[in-house]
Formats: sequence, C-alpha cells, structure tokens
Amino acid sequence: HAISTEHSSLIIYSHSLGDAISKELAITEQLRIAINNKELELYFQPQLNIQNNTIVGLETLIRWPTENGFIPPVEFIPLAEKSGLIIPLGEWIAINACKQAKYLIDQGYKDIVVAINISPQQFQHPDFYNMIVGALAFTKVPAHNIELEITEGVIMYNEADTIDLLHKLKAVGLMLSIDDFGTGYSSLSYLKQFPIDKLKIDQSFIFNINTDAADKAIVNTVVDLGKNLGLTLIAEGVEESEHLDILKKMGCQEIQGYYFSRPLPVLQLHEFLQNNQDLKELA
Ligand code: C2E
Ligand code: MG
Ligand code: MG
Ligand code: MG
Repeated sequence: HAISTEHSSLIIYSHSLGDAISKELAITEQLRIAINNKELELYFQPQLNIQNNTIVGLETLIRWPTENGFIPPVEFIPLAEKSGLIIPLGEWIAINACKQAKYLIDQGYKDIVVAINISPQQFQHPDFYNMIVGALAFTKVPAHNIELEITEGVIMYNEADTIDLLHKLKAVGLMLSIDDFGTGYSSLSYLKQFPIDKLKIDQSFIFNINTDAADKAIVNTVVDLGKNLGLTLIAEGVEESEHLDILKKMGCQEIQGYYFSRPLPVLQLHEFLQNNQDLKELA
C-alpha cells in the first residue's frame, strides 16, 4: 500500500509540474506573438511633488491586454526575463517611453522625468548602455528627462561592473533610482558608492503607515537617511490622504499612488495633465 500511495502521488506531482511548465511555455509563446503584433501598451503613472504641488514625473508601466483581460506584469515579466524576451521588449519599452517624454517636453513639460523599470537581465546585457543611449538619440530626448529604475537585486550581481555602468549612465545625464527600496537585502554601503539620485520607498511600508508604528518608523528613518545623503525620496503606493499628510510632515518630497492617480493609458494621461495644468512646473 505504501508503495502504491507513493507512486500515485508521484504521478500527480509530475503531472502538475508538467502542467505548470507547459502553461509557462504557452504564456511565453503568447507573449512572443503579442510583442510581434505590438499588442502591448505603455501606461504612465503621474508622480507628485508634495512640497510644492507639481507633477514631476511619470513611471512607465507595461500592460498586456488580452481577450480575457490584462495579464499582470508580475506574471509575465518573470517569463520575459527567463526566455530572453525582456531584451527586445525592454528596448521597445525604452524607445516608446522616450517618445512619450519627447511629446510632453514639446508640450511644455520641459522638466518632466519619465521613469523606466529595468530588469536585472537587461542591466546585465552587454548592449544595455548602447540600447539606452540609442533610444535617447533616436527620440531626441535629453538624458535628464529619463530615469532608470533599478532594484537592489541588480546591484548584487557584480559589484565592480555595476558601479562602472552606473557611472557611465550617470555621466550621460540619466536619472537613476532604486525601486522597491527597503525590500532587498543588500548592504546600505552601496548608497555612497553608486551615483543614485532617488530612492523609491516600497509600497509595503506605505500601505499601513497611518496605523502601524513600525512601518512609520521605518519610513521616517529611510526619509532621514535619503535626505542626509542628498537623495530625493518618493513614496510608492500612496492610497489615502492620511498617508500623504504623514509623508509630508516627514519631509518626503514626492509621492506616487492611487491617491493622486492610477497608471493611465496615453489618452487619459494627456487628459489628466490637461486637467491639472495648475500642477505644472513653471517653465
Ligand atoms: P514597480 O516598478 O514597483 O511598480 C509599481 C507597481 O505598483 C505598479 O504595478 C503600479 O501599478 C502599482 N501601484 C501604483 N500605485 C499603487 C497604489 O497606490 N496601490 C497599489 N496597490 N499599487 C499601486 P504593476 O504595473 O502591476 O507592475 C508591477 C511590477 O511589474 C512593477 O513594480 C515592476 O517591477 C514590473 N514592471 C511593470 N512594468 C514594467 C516594465 O515596463 N519593465 C519591467 N522590467 N518591469 C515592469
Ligand atoms: Mg518601478
Ligand atoms: Mg516599486
Ligand atoms: Mg518592482
């Protein structure tokens, strides 16, 4: 009996593992087709400076619409990374984010900064620097209007090469930020070695900042740390006015979250900017 039980559970296990793998392969194949057919779309989430009430930036967020609704990036970005599709997809994202930046700069938002999420696999790719510099040149966007969001994970791969590449990107004039700050487990010493402009405080610390004393203490400490290092702080996942009030008192400069705006498709973004002309930075 023992053997047959083990045997049948083994079969069930291998079936479900096989199912998971073939499902991944199927989604990856659909993604490849969707990329070729240009079915993916960029959304942009506005970022607000809460000290002087101006719209300072936009985060570029990829969307994959299908017949059955949107497939979330947390599901397909890892598959794009695994399969290598993130390289052509990442280039498409960079070029189209730059095109949007160029459009808005020409509309008078000359100081707008458009942020692009960079996967570790992209950052490690030998052509990454040329791809980014190429996208800037092709779209005629000044480098200071583009921000690259990297995670602490990127930094941990190969420290010496990472430092070199970050300095090269900074020398071009690009803005550099650390995404999901506080969730990685790398040493804080990288903050003084790397030419970083901004820390994006992870949303998990923000959601309960008004009710959880520990979260509030962590955010307060990160804000102080960032300020003492001369970095800009932005809080992600700001959903309520209470979150904003606390962050403002702490001296956090910028927020991003549903409270101010959800990520928007281009037409809605332009409407949003039009309706919030008073939040435009004076040129
Ligand atoms: P992320 O870069 O940390 O992006 C922030 C995520 O939080 C986005 O989810 C955004 O829609 C969501 N968000 C913004 N404000 C709020 C809020 O107030 N409350 C809540 N609950 N969520 C909020 P999204 O668009 O689903 O993206 C998830 C992750 O997928 C991103 O996290 C990023 O790691 C990755 N991703 C998205 N677009 C790209 C891309 O173009 N390239 C790469 N490499 N990764 C991307
Ligand atoms: Mg991000
Ligand atoms: Mg984040
Ligand atoms: Mg992230």
